Amino acid sequence: MATIEGTSLQLFLTAAKSSDKESILTILQVLGDLLSVGTDRRIRYMISKGGSEALLQTLVDTARSASPDYDVLLPLFRLLAKVGLRDKKFGQKALELEALDVTLILARKNLSHSQNLLHCLWALRVFASSVTTGAMLGINGAMELLFKVITPYTQKRTRIIRAAAEVLAALLKSKSNSRRAVNRGYVASLLRLHLDWHHRDAADAYVRIRRALLLCLRHIANLRSGREAFLAARGMEILFSSAQNCLDDRRLEPVISVMIQILRQCYPRSPLPLVTSSSAYAFPVPGSVPPEPPCALTEEDFEDDADEEVDQDSDSEDTKEQDDDLETDVNKLSSKPGLDRPEEELRQYEAMCLELSCSLEELESKPGDNLNFEETQDAEHYHIPPVTSPKQHYLTKDQSSWGQEREDMVQTSLLSMVKMGRSTMHPASKRGPGMNAYQNMQSNGLGIDSSGREAPDSQASLKQDAWDIDVISCPVMSASLSSSARPTETAEVDKLLQTHPKHIPFHDPHLYMAKARRTRSVADFKRMAFPDLWGHRPPPCAQSMLERKCGVQRIKIFEDVRRLIEPSDVINKVVFSLDESVLWKLMCVTSQCLVWEYDLLVNTDVNSSQHQQWFYFRVSGTRAAVPYRFNIINCEKPNSQFNYGMQPTVYSVKEALLGRPTWIRMGYEICYYKNHYRQRTAATGGASEKCFYTLTFVVTFPHNEDACYLAYHYPYTYTALLTHLDTLERSVNPKQVYFRQDVLCQTLGGNSCPLVTITAMPESNSADHLEQFRQRPYQVITARVHPGESNASWVMKGALEFLVSSDPVARLLRENFIFKIIPMLNPDGVINGNHRCSLKGEDLNRQWLSPSARLQPTIYHAKGLLYYLSSVGRSPRVFCDFHGHSQKKNVFLYGCSIKETLWQAESSVGTSNLLEDIGYRTLPKILDKLAPAFTMSSCSFLVEKSRASTARVVVWREMGVSKSYTMESSYCGCNQGPYQGLPEMTKNGRSLPSGMGLQFGTSELEEMGAMFCLSLLILELKSVSCSRQLLTQATTLLNAVEEALDHHLQRFLPKTLSFFLFFRFFFQINK
Ligand SMILES: [Zn+2]
Repeated sequence: MATIEGTSLQLFLTAAKSSDKESILTILQVLGDLLSVGTDRRIRYMISKGGSEALLQTLVDTARSASPDYDVLLPLFRLLAKVGLRDKKFGQKALELEALDVTLILARKNLSHSQNLLHCLWALRVFASSVTTGAMLGINGAMELLFKVITPYTQKRTRIIRAAAEVLAALLKSKSNSRRAVNRGYVASLLRLHLDWHHRDAADAYVRIRRALLLCLRHIANLRSGREAFLAARGMEILFSSAQNCLDDRRLEPVISVMIQILRQCYPRSPLPLVTSSSAYAFPVPGSVPPEPPCALTEEDFEDDADEEVDQDSDSEDTKEQDDDLETDVNKLSSKPGLDRPEEELRQYEAMCLELSCSLEELESKPGDNLNFEETQDAEHYHIPPVTSPKQHYLTKDQSSWGQEREDMVQTSLLSMVKMGRSTMHPASKRGPGMNAYQNMQSNGLGIDSSGREAPDSQASLKQDAWDIDVISCPVMSASLSSSARPTETAEVDKLLQTHPKHIPFHDPHLYMAKARRTRSVADFKRMAFPDLWGHRPPPCAQSMLERKCGVQRIKIFEDVRRLIEPSDVINKVVFSLDESVLWKLMCVTSQCLVWEYDLLVNTDVNSSQHQQWFYFRVSGTRAAVPYRFNIINCEKPNSQFNYGMQPTVYSVKEALLGRPTWIRMGYEICYYKNHYRQRTAATGGASEKCFYTLTFVVTFPHNEDACYLAYHYPYTYTALLTHLDTLERSVNPKQVYFRQDVLCQTLGGNSCPLVTITAMPESNSADHLEQFRQRPYQVITARVHPGESNASWVMKGALEFLVSSDPVARLLRENFIFKIIPMLNPDGVINGNHRCSLKGEDLNRQWLSPSARLQPTIYHAKGLLYYLSSVGRSPRVFCDFHGHSQKKNVFLYGCSIKETLWQAESSVGTSNLLEDIGYRTLPKILDKLAPAFTMSSCSFLVEKSRASTARVVVWREMGVSKSYTMESSYCGCNQGPYQGLPEMTKNGRSLPSGMGLQFGTSELEEMGAMFCLSLLILELKSVSCSRQLLTQATTLLNAVEEALDHHLQRFLPKTLSFFLFFRFFFQINK
């Protein structure tokens, strides 16, 4: 084929030179035929052989003759249009060969000759696809010519109008052409044309003309002067009103999407309605310069920001990580830096590792006991059921009716939940958007209180109580610690707890109140949030992801535009402000259609001017069945899982009093998009501006006069952790479980950072047993260095409860390891509602390289403890830091590998001489098999430069822990494995859409924590260093299971089955 083409091309070139009309026509015919069939390969071949130049030269020669021959020109134009589309340098070639000029001249001559003009326009369209050529055409008067063709409105010659409008749109990609268009007043004319076509094209027959006209406006709007001209010509009003009646028209989609782009682009940029961009709170960091006075925000000059924006409806969810961030310096990767502090300092950590030195007697009187709080009068309220499996706490007799499904799940051991077992999840039925999940639960027949009784007319009983819901929903803390008199509000809570008895495992409201009094915050908060005090119990059903309604984002954008053009609809009233002195503002926006709408501004992290993402607020005096719309208008991240099925979490105080103390996913019409707020950033000296994003959602509250709490994710407070640790400690049998709480250090804010040690007590006082006890390998787990990642705390909660439980796996784990756990590395951040930082305004997970004892005490001492373990030859088997991930789904690990990093970076450094234990992949592989929420496919083992100072990389490099990980849990949920929401019949017989996925509830996160612990055991069983004792214990367990299977086949089936699965798994992986 190439030969034929080559031949015909040469023929053509010869013919073109000879100017023999007949020959040219024949060749054009042959070329046209050749290129109209087959693949692009032919055209590319022709281009590579100088075909474009030959055609353009022929055009110029023919056009310049005294009487241009249109018999030749028309087929030539058609061929040019075809070839030009494939030739990237076509515009440049046309410019050099002067084909632009001749085409323009021909077009001018043929204004009244449709056929000829149309062909010229086709050629101009391909010429204009290069911006430089487009600019040249503009200089030569192409725009005036095109404008003459498209104005005034007429439905005659629509093919020509379409081609001309498309050429014009292409020309306006050039900024100089756009500027010219603005100066000549084309914006107003284009708007008029848009209206003419919009109104008169009732049958939508000319969508492409209408789109091309709008594209012209869209390109002009890239210029600031273009946007000004558009606004002056009332463009916002015109596009807004013309779009009103056709938003749902599928055929007009190409038109509407451009309209939206123009409206977004032209919406006047404005600074956030805040006096300062810094946090409402400042914390005086000892020894550092006081934070600069907040810089005032002024009306900024928003210069051309031609940010091309795509409608996020079509955005792809995955963001590619950049490879140039990879560490390719082998020295940095493989060398071990020295100690960052004097060696003698490490001795202080001996006191935190008493298990290494103490006798049994000393162990039994744990120093951690001193940490218990003086408010022991609260202890009598506390009831811990006898320790079985922690999950079985759900099953105390009185509570058995709370959700049949959960009961099924918790009756079996953790092992039954491994992936190869059945999925234990029962997704909630799909519900209409307006219906909230509480109603859904009730409709599932679950309107049952915690005591197992039906709550027949609970509304009435609530009224009888006549509680002031506002007061009880946020009890005021007593300021004084020594005061024995309780404030009236806490007394109210006492009364409430008597009339609404409740048993939430490992939670005690009275203990919570006592702990909260000792918690120190920057703003000196005096109020507690009811949900944290009262407690949370997972909902009876897992909740599926919210199906995104098509076009929800554009509806929200149109509503924003309406606020701009109909400002009288907006009640611009501040309904709540955190601190009047900085004009912290929250606007109430109520529109005429009685939608209750609020704009919210989230405070930045303390001592910072960024990290607005986490939110947790209360709405009181609610009205039932009214759709409340909330817009959080100063979010920072460019995308969010809120665009992919995630809902915020809501807790209703009335529901809690009715026996459903539950955070659930709620809200609909959820969407996250870039808004019109901009701010100069101090970091860049005001050179660039920062964009903001709106998270919008609508919530319908379940009750009148209720107080409801809304949060980014299931909250888990510092006080909740302290309460949890104490109740856990009280729950264990001290003869069997060694559970010690130490204080790792005091934080900047004056709070203590707990360190927990869990292992089994030595079997006896004998030297052998004590020796075994001391020689157990360590496992170190940390969490919540990022305060906004409350999911990490729920995973940690699950791990802690599992580790102290009576599950045989947990017992084996305790008997074979010592767990050192720092469950909250950033207590101050959590207490003060930060999303990312410490009180110093720093990301603590970027401080591990050289932390300071004074400024980053928790990191300094966490690292110190690890140094200490390493110095006594007891580096942990595994180090893992739990985190939350806002962009991805599922749970996954990040680890460290030199070889994978070098390979990925395509580094020239040879890796064959590098020794690397590939054991770092074993743990994630095990988790992939075990944990329903976990996926290997999102794991990564690359060492990035930007992560050099994270816990994972520093513990790997400096402590030589090859299995050093970050575990990321999605804020959203799962789209793989058993939780991806397989089509499953729900109670009311409806099935879920396949593959929609489930949002994480706290149960799934806690389960993940337990699974993580189980994986540590299997990792050990698989390792060559696994002790004979552990292997023996595992075999004993297997024999016991077999016996149980023989004798109690029926009764214990679920549990024994789970062991079988476990051991089958264990032996499989040992093959
Ligand atoms: Zn994190």
